[in-house]
Amino acid sequence: MKLIQNKLGQLKTNISSSVTIVAVSKTKPLDLILDLYNHGQLHFGENKVQELLLKEEKLPKEIKWHMIGHLQRNKVRPILPFIHLIHSVDSMRLVNKINQEAKIINRKINILLQVKISKETSKYGFDFNEIEEILNSNVLEELDFVKVVGLMGMATFSNNISVIETEFNSLNHIYNKFKTKHAFKVLSMGMSADYEIAVKNGSNMLRLGSIIFGSRN
Ligand SMILES: *Cc1c(COP(=O)(O)O)cnc(C)c1O
Repeated sequence: MKLIQNKLGQLKTNISSSVTIVAVSKTKPLDLILDLYNHGQLHFGENKVQELLLKEEKLPKEIKWHMIGHLQRNKVRPILPFIHLIHSVDSMRLVNKINQEAKIINRKINILLQVKISKETSKYGFDFNEIEEILNSNVLEELDFVKVVGLMGMATFSNNISVIETEFNSLNHIYNKFKTKHAFKVLSMGMSADYEIAVKNGSNMLRLGSIIFGSRN
């Protein structure tokens, strides 16, 4: 446990305080999360609805939970009463579903639109043409119960730094282009392997798992 706190402490001294660290706690037990929370970590991320619901129920209500994994429309409802930010919104059908379900509980939900910046077929997200079209239009302003506060992207899993850099840079470019129009605040880019490149390219929110908690089985 001490090791994990030290790791997070180290990261925080190396990363500007204007960058939010979301501790990605998927597969990790409650006691580890609670301990980090008790040492000041407020933001935690999960990628599966079932696991998120179980953990949210058992842990302090002050924790700010981030949904970072692919979200199916039929799983939206149960997370809306408490979710702090959904990073992985990858279709307008999902946006509309969140808006519709959020209206029922009268809670405005903060989301990020996920952009497919990698050519890897496994990555979800809007492609560049789609996202430009949406951000140029006024469809997002018409949503009463969804606030799009920024963008999210995942780089190719690669040792080639210039590939990762190009991908993060392309998302940073779109983010800045539409920042004022949409009052964006969050650019979520960077995981354990590539967070330094992400910060250099404008990220202000990192999703860090293994570098904090150690590798997952
Ligand atoms: C698991 C996960 C992370 C964290 O990955 P690490 O390499 O362990 O830091 C970040 N973002 C998403 C979407 C993830 O699913």
